[in-house]
Amino acid sequence: MTMGKVFLVGAGPGSLGLVTIRAKELISSADVVVYDYLVHPDLLAWCRGDCEKIYVGKRPQRHALPQEEIESLLVNRARAGRRVVRLKGGDPFVFGRGGEEARRLAADGIPFEVVPGVTAALAAGAHTGIPLTQRNTSSALVFLTGHEDPQTHALATDWRKYGALADATLAIYMGMGHLRLILAELMAGGLAPTTPAAAVQWASLGRQRSVVGTTATLADQADAIQLDAPAVVLVGEIVRGHDAIDWFGRLPLFGRRVAVTRARAQAGELCEALEALGAEVIELPLVEIRPHVDRDMTIEIFAEIGRYDWLVFTSANGVRHFFDLFLKAFRDLRALGVMRIACVGEATAHPVHALHLEVEICPETGTAEALAEAMVATGSLENAKVLVITGNLNRDLLVKKLEEAGSIVDTFQVYENVRVDLGGNPAAEEFRQKGADAVLFASSSAVHAFAAQAAALQPVDGARRPMAGSIGPRTSEAIRKAGLRVDFEANASTMDALVTALVEKLGRADKAP
Ligand code: SAH
Repeated sequence: MTMGKVFLVGAGPGSLGLVTIRAKELISSADVVVYDYLVHPDLLAWCRGDCEKIYVGKRPQRHALPQEEIESLLVNRARAGRRVVRLKGGDPFVFGRGGEEARRLAADGIPFEVVPGVTAALAAGAHTGIPLTQRNTSSALVFLTGHEDPQTHALATDWRKYGALADATLAIYMGMGHLRLILAELMAGGLAPTTPAAAVQWASLGRQRSVVGTTATLADQADAIQLDAPAVVLVGEIVRGHDAIDWFGRLPLFGRRVAVTRARAQAGELCEALEALGAEVIELPLVEIRPHVDRDMTIEIFAEIGRYDWLVFTSANGVRHFFDLFLKAFRDLRALGVMRIACVGEATAHPVHALHLEVEICPETGTAEALAEAMVATGSLENAKVLVITGNLNRDLLVKKLEEAGSIVDTFQVYENVRVDLGGNPAAEEFRQKGADAVLFASSSAVHAFAAQAAALQPVDGARRPMAGSIGPRTSEAIRKAGLRVDFEANASTMDALVTALVEKLGRADKAP
């Protein structure tokens, strides 16, 4: 059997954009991924479908897998010929026990590679406006750990020695558990109590929180807002004046928690836009979109495809699933012929434009009525053959209006909306516990799914009560029918407009530096 290989890979501090290209390549091609608590779960979406994913971090009521067993796991999988990615938060060689794992691999003759990552202290500095070094005041940077051995929780570092360092920045990992003691020891070693200090939790992520004070005050301040692990403590002159360059904290949606109700497969674009504006995003996977087609119907429609005068899309999902099917059958877009194309709104037209196809009709309001009216207004429907692409939801109104105008309509269902059970879902649990500042509804079907699962989504007392945001009139109507208030509505039926409406409603007024 050929020998496999182990890759000790830094997963960065959390934000997906801070992963190296090499890490992404390796995750995407791995046979096995071994990961722990601080690795962002979205990274695992890059894995191949058949990749074996093994979690070795702490679990509720259970300990992490002992280090020795993790090492044996790596060795055994590699000996079985597998490409094994050992993913670690931040950098594998910074307080990550990556050194121990590498030594074991070397001792056992297993080929390996080490891929560095952005370590937490760098992310904490970058995302709070704290440069880690500074000419004249801070010419050294010391990485320290508050737990010498995470298993024993012993405080072994000689903190007084580091308190005596002049002109240095201290970056303390795993320090929250003993913060008061650590800061007291630093001061006992000579560090001035007025030295600026900051603690940064979940650096680089939408849920980042931080507190800034002095060596004397920081422990009380962190207690007051219950700022806990995982956090990095930065101590030194460099903390002073951080506010002037705190670009991240000034993003318009920083500190806002936004729940997104789109189906999983397409939530990505919206989540990315929200995260880029600093929001913490909770994805509620209420509905799942699955391909759903009748085989005979597909054959029949594709046999006649060149005869249609109009092709009508009522959702972006319809576009995606229709072209998946179409290109599997024909391989060549030209087989579509010269039909005219209409879309219910901008969000639906977008993926059509991406195929370099012209969309002739795309009403601004994004409603079926407006779509039908605009098509009727072309005066081309008398005896025209129209193909309407749908999911499993009702499109009767549109079809009826087109038929009344004299056209011959075929509806072609290419996907279905299926409700996801939220019982044991972690995102739903987080939503119940913490609530959110806003929930965004990008379709009426998402509203229906949300309403149907209302019991499983009821925030506990004290959780933030979310506002409801809607992508357009049809969705707003569904929200009202479900007995909820519409707090804001996009002025065009696009994701961008929905995000803009959210920022107008909830965004911070101050400008980025
Ligand atoms: N190898 C990791 C460190 C692992 S030790 C790295 O290079 O970053 C775990 C500690 O890292 C946590 O207790 C915390 O101090 C720090 N940490 C990891 N991710 C963090 C994050 N996103 N924000 C703040 N601290 C983080």
